[in-house]
Amino acid sequence: MAAVKLATVWLGGCSGCHMSFLDMDEWLIELASRADLVYSPIADVKEFPPGVDICLVEGAVANEDNRHLARVLRERSRVVIAFGDCAVTGNVTALRNPLGVALEVLQLAYLRPHEEHARIPDDRTVVPVLLDRVMPLHAVVPVDYYLPGCPPPAERIRQLLSDLLDGRRPEQTADRISFG
Ligand code: SF4
Repeated sequence: MAAVKLATVWLGGCSGCHMSFLDMDEWLIELASRADLVYSPIADVKEFPPGVDICLVEGAVANEDNRHLARVLRERSRVVIAFGDCAVTGNVTALRNPLGVALEVLQLAYLRPHEEHARIPDDRTVVPVLLDRVMPLHAVVPVDYYLPGCPPPAERIRQLLSDLLDGRRPEQTADRISFG
């Protein structure tokens, strides 16, 4: 049987969710025997590949690069999981939303009154263009499963991945998602 193609994606997040993924410790060995990691910040792959079976997405959608990647991964993945509170609700990444639209946020961050040469970075090859509002993943593309938590505990990541690898499709309704 062909190995499941697994991807993990890092959008607007702190990478803490990926750290929790690594906390699955020895279960990672079992996972490696059943799934090929075809795209991830911990694998040197530049292009999100087609035909992905399961994709874990950490982080909110905060800039144009995030939004583009979210659309690509949705097109190319069978199951998309909003991985952690930033992907599920916006969480920490969305704390900038009350400060205003992108330009107002950038002005607050970069244009300090006493810094004469301060300027907003505008090299799009270095700094992705901020969206006016940070959005949870489901506001941009359909999501199949939610793994809330900041970060989600390793045990719950393992449980959901085991279910999916074993061909089970756990039902997730709002009252059954546990926020731990
Ligand atoms: Fe980091 Fe928490 Fe957001 Fe995960 S949910 S990316 S741990 S802030």
